[in-house]
Amino acid sequence: MKTLKLDSSFRPVQIIDSYDAFGMIYMKRANLVESYPGEFLYSTHDRFPLPCVISLNRYVKIPKITLTCNRKNVFWRDKNTCQYCSKVFPSEELTMDHVTPRSKGGPKSWENIVTCCKKCNQKKGNKLPREADMIPLSIPSRPSPYMFYTLGKEVIHPQWAPYLGKYKIK
Ligand SMILES: [Zn+2]
Repeated sequence: MKTLKLDSSFRPVQIIDSYDAFGMIYMKRANLVESYPGEFLYSTHDRFPLPCVISLNRYVKIPKITLTCNRKNVFWRDKNTCQYCSKVFPSEELTMDHVTPRSKGGPKSWENIVTCCKKCNQKKGNKLPREADMIPLSIPSRPSPYMFYTLGKEVIHPQWAPYLGKYKIK
């Protein structure tokens, strides 16, 4: 089983093994926030609730990671989904689209770049979304570096959802 580790201000930090999470509680480095209902860890004389969510006793200074707005990261943010036709493509068949075209002063930034299939890219050309009648599925924004690496690979337990907030990834 896995445990969601929060820092002292309840920000998600990491997903760890539940045994390690229990060890941290035992060593008084963390507190139990939620346990898995009906799941226990047994010692010779005792049983302990299996931690589902724990919080650290300290604040974790999360380093400011600058996420570069490049192909790989943009496709990751948009889950390889063309933001105009909503189809999923392999990375080779995708391109980055400037929502406001470069020719109209649109910058290459997280807020102006979306994942786009080649067909839609051609169709949109140098037009603004309203001119082309092509509106991105979601408003492009800078993804949070929080849990960028761990969360995408993990199965998210429903009990974690309230703590993950906008970092929830399906
Ligand atoms: Zn498309």
